[in-house]
Amino acid sequence: MIEVKNLTKQYGDKKAVNDISFKVEKGEILGFLGPNGAGKSTTMNMLTGYISSTSGHVLINGVDILEDPKKAKANIGYLPEIPPLYVDMTVDAYLSFVFDLKKCKLPRKAHLKDVCNLCKINDVRGRIIKNLSKGYRQRVGLAQALINNPPVLILDEPTVGLDPNQIIEIRTLIKKLGKRHTVILSSHILPEIQAVCDRIIIINKGEVAADGTADEIARKLTNEHKMTLRIEGSTRSAKDKDEIVSAIRGIKGIKYVRADMEREKGIYDYDVEADEDTDIRRELNTLCRDKGWNILMLQLSDLTLEDIFLKITMGDTAGMTEQPAKPATRIKLVTESELEAMNKAAEEDDDTAGDDSDSSSDSTDEQDSEDQDNGGNE
Ligand code: ADP
Ligand code: MG
Repeated sequence: MIEVKNLTKQYGDKKAVNDISFKVEKGEILGFLGPNGAGKSTTMNMLTGYISSTSGHVLINGVDILEDPKKAKANIGYLPEIPPLYVDMTVDAYLSFVFDLKKCKLPRKAHLKDVCNLCKINDVRGRIIKNLSKGYRQRVGLAQALINNPPVLILDEPTVGLDPNQIIEIRTLIKKLGKRHTVILSSHILPEIQAVCDRIIIINKGEVAADGTADEIARKLTNEHKMTLRIEGSTRSAKDKDEIVSAIRGIKGIKYVRADMEREKGIYDYDVEADEDTDIRRELNTLCRDKGWNILMLQLSDLTLEDIFLKITMGDTAGMTEQPAKPATRIKLVTESELEAMNKAAEEDDDTAGDDSDSSSDSTDEQDSEDQDNGGNE
């Protein structure tokens, strides 16, 4: 359905996207996961023919997007990071305009109604877009992407700036759309991608860092030569850390050691990685016995997708490349409920400041919580 071959985008001397290749099969929901600045939007803009690539190819249904853009683009519905809305138009007028722009041959009234039903924007069809809340605007953006029933949908960070309920609604909608369309969706938020996508491509610094289902990615990057140890040193204080780290470093075949958090009073965990196919457990035991230390736990590393994402994106790539990794601060990924709280706070910020950022906004825009907003005509 979609084939991306050695795609590169260079801005000046900076490579925003560097030699990316992947395929997306019909009916897949692919998540494009990466931190801000990873190159997600740039890739999506090339996939949709919105910008050209420096080198490489994008084939949509076998058609090269740069060779026959009209034909290739006819297969794509695109929701860019900033939805391309004409905010002075009503929803209806705007969607009708998009309908004409796409030279859609479907019965206009029925098709627009279907799309509006699907995106749950029926109650605001007569309203001026600039007066709609962010959640509604995003759904109008999604509706324009759906006009003409394109087989491929490309959605760039479709839930950014939405409140938790809106996020859940959009996710549910995307899942539903995935039954009829091939979807590529980008996000910098892991739970988001995990909740919606069959397959994940982690993109970092313009390159594909991992590709597969969540399980496949975790399995591929989990290895027996990596482990976490909890060692009780002789002083049972932070003083033990350096001694333990340097002693472990002395074992043959060790690639990487770092002290992690204090897990019990004065006792630390250590992340240890040896060369591949090297089992250092016995040497570790001998070392600890000789030093009079106690191993309180030895756990072969079983990375979750969260760990992997953090490691990849924070530059702690121990085990994923040949490079010994820099120690990374261990941070906890936010849970779904924390994420919701954060989004809520952001949305509240947006409610107080956001309307000003929309220069064309006016006083009728005060109600940003559309779920109570039943679409009175302005
Ligand atoms: P993401 O969508 O993953 O946040 P982008 O694709 O927007 O990342 O950006 C990738 C990198 O390319 C960033 O470092 C960004 O600053 C750079 N970049 C994006 N667009 C341009 C541009 N038009 N000119 C120069 N640099 C750009
Ligand atoms: Mg982006």
